[in-house]
Amino acid sequence: MYDVAIIGAGFSGAVCAERFASLGRKVLVVEKRFHVGGNAYDTFHPSGVLIHPYGPHIFHTNSESVISYLSQFTEWRPYQHRVLTSVDGQLVPFPINLRTIENVYGLKLTSDEMKAWIANQAEPILNPINVEQSMHARIGKDLYQRFFKHYTEKQWGRPATELLPTITNRIPLRYSYDDRYFTDRYQLMPLYGYSALFRNMLNRPNISILLNTDWASVKDLKIPKIICTGPIDEYFDYVHGHLPYRSLHFDFIEHPVDFAQPVATVNYPNDYDFTRITEFKHITGQRIPHITVTGVEYPQESGEPFYPVLTKESQRTLEHYQEEAKRIESHVQFVGRLGTFRYYNMDQAVASALQTVDECLNSGW
Ligand code: FAD
Repeated sequence: MYDVAIIGAGFSGAVCAERFASLGRKVLVVEKRFHVGGNAYDTFHPSGVLIHPYGPHIFHTNSESVISYLSQFTEWRPYQHRVLTSVDGQLVPFPINLRTIENVYGLKLTSDEMKAWIANQAEPILNPINVEQSMHARIGKDLYQRFFKHYTEKQWGRPATELLPTITNRIPLRYSYDDRYFTDRYQLMPLYGYSALFRNMLNRPNISILLNTDWASVKDLKIPKIICTGPIDEYFDYVHGHLPYRSLHFDFIEHPVDFAQPVATVNYPNDYDFTRITEFKHITGQRIPHITVTGVEYPQESGEPFYPVLTKESQRTLEHYQEEAKRIESHVQFVGRLGTFRYYNMDQAVASALQTVDECLNSGW
């Protein structure tokens, strides 16, 4: 009855479903949560404020093709994300820029002076093998201690010496006063929210969606082609062991004011058990007076798999699963954050899903 089964209705699964359906294939989407949208799902808090229950999601990309694809399903509102970090009792811009150095060290530098100053802080470590070494080599011990060490260790629940450098390498340094968190060409939020975008993508006659349904309970349906955007280790019944994920817990707090903090996100690297507090109205642009909601973010070891924990050991385990995947690639493809055990931003998840569908079609799916 169905041509393609899709496990998971986040960005990766929804793109694959929409693409196959648009080509006339009958698609069954199986989603174990009660809603579509994966971690990008948004909903209204009882106060009426639109929130992101799985953490703040800001859309940013340099890809024309991703924007033009998604623009079929949503209008957009421009939004530039800003983050402050609480260090030594003050809120300073993050990523680190000229103003951050000025606020923390009392140094008013030019761009070239900041480059020289950072180079002077940096330690000569040739081939850093973990987060700590790599940050010492990039920015030196002091900035690392103030901004990164404790945040990273809270976030990942492991010493920074056990984590691969890729985790913090993607956080830039700014030799300017540019205090935007992202510098991508397109920084936008779906005008009516992510859940509306997903409804527009998936609401079509040849897509059937089973919510509250784990793939395990329907896998005997004998659907010829499968796209798995759920965890790759789960698909193979953990034969090579579990891949480690870090999870999060959020406390959503209502405040009887228009805004509770100056920007959308404030990081707390050095105090408290939580890592950051996000105020959603800044991000969504929702105009609702005298009420706002913040999400206080606590990393935790168990719960929904959120962030792949990148260690040497997890990379070895992943390789075993990649070999298993190769054996069945003619009829099963693994896509997305959980299917490939890789941190993807939303635009990367969309681009990679579009590419997978093209490759499937080229190989006769
Ligand atoms: P997911 O969204 O995780 O979707 C996978 C789906 O599969 C889930 O709905 C899950 O329930 C379902 N599933 C799993 N197993 C099964 C099963 N056995 N049976 C049925 N269904 C199953 N990206 C950005 O670009 N900007 C941001 O600001 C940003 N912020 C983020 C903040 C947080 C806290 C997190 C965790 C991620 C953030 N991301 C952000 C990344 C973004 O969430 C991902 O790029 C995106 O969710 C990837 O989509 P996906 O479909 O691959 O995975």
